[in-house]
Parts: sequence; C-alpha cells; structure tokens
Amino acid sequence: MGSSPEPQFFNIINDELRGASDHHQVTDPRTEEPLWPCPVATTQDFEDAVTAARNAFPAWSKSTVAERQAVLVKLAEGLKENRQELEEIVMKETGKTALMAQIEIDACINQCMYYTRVSLADEVQFEDDKQKIIATHIPLGVVAAICPWNFPLILSSIKVFSSIVTGNCVIVKPSPFTPYCVLKWVELARGILPPGVFQALNGGADLGAAMTSHPGIDKISFTGTIATGKKVMAACAKTLKKVTLELAGNDAAVVTADIDIPTVAAKVATGGFFNAGQMCVATKRVYVHGSIYDEFLDALVKEVEKGYTIQEDATTPGVFGPLDNKMQYDVVKGMLEDCRQHGYKIRTGGKVREKGFWLEPTVVEKPSEDAPLVKEEQFGPILPVMSWSDEDDVIKRANLANAGLGASVYCRDLANAERIARRLEAGSVFINQSERPNPVAYFSGFKDSGFGGEMGKQGLLSYCYTQSLHIAKA
Ligand code: NAD
Repeated sequence: MGSSPEPQFFNIINDELRGASDHHQVTDPRTEEPLWPCPVATTQDFEDAVTAARNAFPAWSKSTVAERQAVLVKLAEGLKENRQELEEIVMKETGKTALMAQIEIDACINQCMYYTRVSLADEVQFEDDKQKIIATHIPLGVVAAICPWNFPLILSSIKVFSSIVTGNCVIVKPSPFTPYCVLKWVELARGILPPGVFQALNGGADLGAAMTSHPGIDKISFTGTIATGKKVMAACAKTLKKVTLELAGNDAAVVTADIDIPTVAAKVATGGFFNAGQMCVATKRVYVHGSIYDEFLDALVKEVEKGYTIQEDATTPGVFGPLDNKMQYDVVKGMLEDCRQHGYKIRTGGKVREKGFWLEPTVVEKPSEDAPLVKEEQFGPILPVMSWSDEDDVIKRANLANAGLGASVYCRDLANAERIARRLEAGSVFINQSERPNPVAYFSGFKDSGFGGEMGKQGLLSYCYTQSLHIAKA
C-alpha cells in the first residue's frame, strides 16, 4: 500500500473505523509543527470496544494454537506489506530516523514470527499409576494494552502478539504522544482476526485509568513510568485484574580494567545513544575502572562525536533523532542544567536547537552520585560517566533501591564478567554487548522497574490462567 500525503486516523472498534468529534494533534519533534488530527475515543467508544471484545472472546478462546499462529503469520505479512507507510508515520510522530523506523518494524515482525513458533502447551506435571496431573493454560479474557511512546509499535505489538497467541482479545491504547502508527497498524490489519479480537483506541490518562477500573477488562499490560505504574496497580486492585508492569530503568554499565578500550567505548556509546537514549534499557550510568578512566572517556567522546550527530533530515543514515516530546525534553534539559549549576564537566554536546526537541549527544564527566542525572532515569541523550576502583563498591553503586531493569558488564575475562553480572540486581544483564532485548528472552524489572514480565515463552504465562487437571486413573 502506498503512503497518502495526508493520512487519516480512526479508532478501530469491532473491525470498523470510527471517527470522533474530539481530536488531538501531536507535535512533530523535529520541527514542532503540528501533525495530523487524531480522534480521541469517547467513553461510549471504550464501552463499545469492551462489548465487542467480550462478544468475540468465547469463540476466539476456543480456537487452537495452530489457528492463532496462522493468524500471526498473516499479521507479520501485513506488517511487511505496509511497512513503508508505517515507517513514514513512525518517523514523523517519534522523530526517529529512517533506519530506526526500519528497526522498529523489523523488531515487530521478529516478535510476531517468534510466537508463530512458540506457545504454551499442556505439560504433564506428575504421573504415577494412580493419577496424572496436567498443567493447561487458559486465556484470561480481554487484555488492555497501555503503551508508552519510545517504541510505539514494538512495545504495543508484544502485548498484542502475546494476547493473540494465548487466545485473548486485546484493546490497545497507544501513548497520546505517538498514537498514529498504532492506529494505522490496527486499521490495516482489519479482516485478519474476528471482529472484536484486536482493537485500538486513542486517548490519554483518562482512557488508561478507565481501562484499569472497568470490570470488563481482565488484564492490564502496562509499559510506562514507575509513577503511573503504581497508579495502575492500585486501580487494578479494586477489580483484582491481572496486571503486568514494565517500568523505568536506570541501567548501569560496569567497565573493568582489562577491556579493549576502542571496542567497548563504541558499544557503550550505542548503549547510551541508540534512539537518543530513549530506551527503557538504554545505558543510563557508566562506571569505568579508574585505571583506564581518562583513556576510556576520550575514546567514548570520540565515538559519540563520530556516530551520533544531529541529522535534521531523518532520511540520512543514523540512529540519532530528537527527543520525542516536550515533556521529556524538559526533563532532560533540567538534568543538564543541574549538571551545569554544579560545575560538572560536559565533555561533549550540551547544546539544544531553537526549533525541535533536539539535544546534542552529551557526555558528563564524574557527576556526583546524588545528581538527578545519576539517581533518576534521564531517558534522553545525556550520559554520566563515573569512576570506580573497588568491585564491591561499584556493585553497590550500580544496584539501586528503586530500579532494576537492565545492566551491562564489559570485561575481557568471561568468568569474571559473569560473576559480576550475577551480582547485578536487574531483570536483564548484558555481557560485552549493549542492552538489546531479544524476543526469545523473558524481560522484566527487579524492584520498582516492574511487576511480572513479558517476552519469551515465560512471558505468555501472565496472559493465562494455569489450570491443574488432576486425573485419577481407574
Ligand atoms: P507514562 O507512564 O507517562 O505513560 C504510559 C501510558 O500510560 C500512556 O499510554 C499514558 O496515556 C497512560 N496513562 C497515564 N496515566 C494513566 C493512568 N492513571 N492510568 C492508566 N494509564 C495511564 O510513560 P511514558 O512517558 O509514556 O513512557 C516512558 C517510560 O516508560 C520511561 O520511564 C521508560 O523507561 C518506560 N519504559 C519501560 C519499558 C519496559 O519494558 N520496562 C519499555 C519502554 C518504556
């Protein structure tokens, strides 16, 4: 399908396109010009979507895994056929470069194809001559997927594929900062699934809150900030909804003295500045062994200046764009300002543009452990680099009380690397590679970074009741 110069957007309810009287417009992060009008779902739209999903669930939940996996193959084909149109929308609403938009669609297709091969089968838990006990996995019902803006398609689609392969119906609510590509994707996927199984509604915090309290929703799969995650969990308690929370991280990278400096500097630059640092598992704090600190910092600055320059034209090669929205831009600028006020040395970057939510990739030398840039999640292109000398001490500093999503270790001696990795309190630890989630691997946060997890085979368990069948033998 070719791209239209002025695309239109709709809520998708029961496989039908629905407009609205109320619209909102997202600001183009590259230019600060308004993008397209986007219909805001009403309370009635939400009620209709819940009714459609509940009507669809009894038949859909009885479909076989093979039938559902055949549907996933069609969804992957649809993503491939429509990738150009979806990529253009992703680029506009997020500010991503063309390469990043391609990566976004490729990752969705990979996630989708993964679940065409992997699902939850019945398992015999116990058997003797008297009885057999089988674990079987039963879909929950209607899932509401509440999503953030940094990877709008990847992060909503994982919830969609997990729901579909386990036999649930799903209503997706994209972030109001990035509603367009998700609505377009669901629009283009019409006809693949029975009406009511896969729907999308655009709205903000009100709609999200309504989803968390509606008795017709069985599970909330939420990705976003810790503060909102806590509200979601509190709201879900009232109807005892199942809930999965994928929340913020503040990933530490621990760099030991034995590494190859140019190689690891390049990897740490990727970890910190891929998607302009707007990644839940971006490297957000770097701890470098004191004996190589100066040389490493020089090499890192060189890598950042070489690989992550501002490109106003999104189609030039590269993975570095602006911040997605003004809210996040202001958070990051506030942290930068705090670094300036405290006199921390800004080794590269630090400049903003007059138009657009641009911040040059910025490296800050040895800010205090108490600086907001170190203590809190920056979610943007500004990276603090600290020094360490004692292993117990660096592990203590790397392990935070309020976050534990990801971490990385760079160490030539693999046994040593793994030993350090196992001491890091994070859901995903990457050894000698920058943080890159993989659809096959369970993804979850320790401490305030989450509740439950998604991805991998294990991620499907949270989309099901696991029933134990105790069968007596005659
Ligand atoms: P956010 O919490 O502001 O919003 C997330 C979603 O929640 C949006 O769709 C929003 O409309 C909705 N929402 C807002 N208030 C709500 C309420 N009271 N009830 C229900 N829904 C509500 O988060 P964000 O700024 O969109 O996302 C960025 C954050 O997400 C960062 O902290 C990042 O680290 C985190 N993140 C985590 C992961 C992960 O897998 N752990 C992945 C990506 C992003």
